[in-house]
Amino acid sequence: MQPYTYVIAVDFEATCWEKQAPPQWREAEIIEFPAVLVNLKTGKIEAEFHQYILPIESPRLSSYCTELTGIQQKTVDSGVPLQTALMMFHEWLRKELRARNLTLPKMSKSNILGNCAFVTWTDWDFGICLAKECTRKRMRKAAYFNQWIDVRAIYRSWYKYRPCNFSDALSHVGLAFEGRAHSGIDDAKNLGALMCKMVRDGALFSITKDLTPYQQLNPNCVL
Ligand code: AMP
Ligand code: MG
Ligand code: MG
Repeated sequence: MQPYTYVIAVDFEATCWEKQAPPQWREAEIIEFPAVLVNLKTGKIEAEFHQYILPIESPRLSSYCTELTGIQQKTVDSGVPLQTALMMFHEWLRKELRARNLTLPKMSKSNILGNCAFVTWTDWDFGICLAKECTRKRMRKAAYFNQWIDVRAIYRSWYKYRPCNFSDALSHVGLAFEGRAHSGIDDAKNLGALMCKMVRDGALFSITKDLTPYQQLNPNCVL
């Protein structure tokens, strides 16, 4: 049985440089934070969160980063600090979940699995990018960011195919990427579309990553 009736697709864009060494790659700062709430029954996006973020450690975007993501310097200059974006996201999340009676994993004692989950493409967004930036900046990260579904992991086992990138994953199942690749909001919408296609094809989704596997409920998860 499919436990999730809704998913929240998230795809961060972050500061980057051409031919950067892996340690630098791991110290990226988030510059675009998009999230789309997708109804898996209808395939429709019902709500959208989208915020550009001001990088503090490396305020100047490389031309490589701007070309890759399409994000201009002036766009991040008028963005908000990550901490503010996280607070805005929290409010958005609270409102959208309440409106639909949705719960995230480990949010409610009576339904530990929840009926709505975060989905990302790979573990990078929550497992590396957000986790490391919050640690570096000594920022509290809400516990709901600790559980997610890596759609790529499910995709690989369901279709028995290892896509070379996200666009390849879409085209292999007959979908065309809509919008601009590496624009966070477009990536998130396309990830939502891929999820819906996978559900139609019969794939079952469950949490693939839990950074706090021994914790019964998320502390302070007041949503
Ligand atoms: P994506 O979701 O695939 O658009 O990538 C998320 C982030 O990973 C980007 O905003 C970059 O910071 C980094 N990234 C992705 N692809 C590359 C690449 N080819 N070279 C350098 N950084 C990249
Ligand atoms: Mg991504
Ligand atoms: Mg992206």
